[in-house]
Amino acid sequence: MKREKLPPRISAEKQSTLRPVNPGAEKWLNRPIKCLDHGFVYLVDYLGSDSEIARSARVSYGKGTKQVNQDQGLLRYLMRNAHTSPLEMAELKFHCKMPIFVARQWIRHRTANVNEYSGRYSEMLDEFYLPPAEVLRKQSQTNRQGRGNERLTSTQEARALELLKGLYKDQYSAYQEMLEMGLTRELSRIGLSVANYTQWYWKIDLHNLFHFLRLRLDGHAQYEIRVFGEAMAQIVKDAFPIAYAAFEDYQLNAKQFSGPELELLSAVISGTLQGSLEQAASERFKNKRETEEFLAKARSLGLLKDDDPKLGLTSN
Ligand SMILES: Cc1cc2nc3c(=O)[nH]c(=O)nc-3n(C[C@H](O)[C@H](O)[C@H](O)COP(=O)(O)OP(=O)(O)OC[C@H]3O[C@@H](n4cnc5c(N)ncnc54)[C@H](O)[C@@H]3O)c2cc1C
Repeated sequence: MKREKLPPRISAEKQSTLRPVNPGAEKWLNRPIKCLDHGFVYLVDYLGSDSEIARSARVSYGKGTKQVNQDQGLLRYLMRNAHTSPLEMAELKFHCKMPIFVARQWIRHRTANVNEYSGRYSEMLDEFYLPPAEVLRKQSQTNRQGRGNERLTSTQEARALELLKGLYKDQYSAYQEMLEMGLTRELSRIGLSVANYTQWYWKIDLHNLFHFLRLRLDGHAQYEIRVFGEAMAQIVKDAFPIAYAAFEDYQLNAKQFSGPELELLSAVISGTLQGSLEQAASERFKNKRETEEFLAKARSLGLLKDDDPKLGLTSN
């Protein structure tokens, strides 16, 4: 059985450097965060810091270095006003290991530089994602793409896990048998499932990492990729605390409203709404999905009672 250990933490050698050092990022260098059953994310290298982002933004104005509180005001102004190019001056390079189905979603983010493990060059490992029983949910009734809150019965959970384990065992032994008969690695691997683990180096600038995190920390993203998003967010929070707080305030936790949504909200606030908000929304949008999306925002604002408490795992 081939299994792989998390990479060891490399002890820092004493070196002097003229480049700006970011203590929050240094803390995470070569320190893996475990993700799912066999995966991890760790920071391999970085470029920049909050103050370096502010410094590059000030090139526009030619005013040189300023105090930390002024950096904070500037970074928050940049984030509020989508002046994103200074954020592209900061970069992070991660080593990540994830199931192939997670990698397929992840790779859609085209603005990163990627170098992936090669199943043509190296043997695939006997590492397959086995979901913990509590994430084995039924298909959502409201979102065709995701899982809902309802669990399987404990007998069904045990059976699903047994089926997966059996499949993985058969696939890996077939893979090994084909390798042993001399079949090339690039063909022997084709029967392995997307639950098998791969890994890559992934380098991205901070602006595009925030874009990735906004999409993949969202409840609509699949739980298994969210886990990796959360690991990277933990690192970014320490490495770029001011930029991350601005990202949380102006992007991650912000909500966008369409013109018709604002009309309805203004009618609620001014007390001129005729009938119920549900009815008004349904007539205004004439579209079930858009109506539901608006009502979810109204619920989050406390304008409607939330009668559908969501569990943390939902990907609706
Ligand atoms: C919840 C969820 C469900 C999804 N479901 C599906 C699905 O069912 N099927 C599916 O195929 N995908 C799906 N996706 C993937 C999604 O459509 C995007 O491909 C993915 O999120 C990457 O987003 P992006 O293109 O904005 O990011 P990036 O590739 O990182 O690009 C960042 C930004 O750069 C710009 N950009 C990058 N490349 C180009 C280009 N070539 N031309 C123009 N502008 C460019 C765009 O402004 C883009 O927003 C899903 C994503 C999420 C989060």
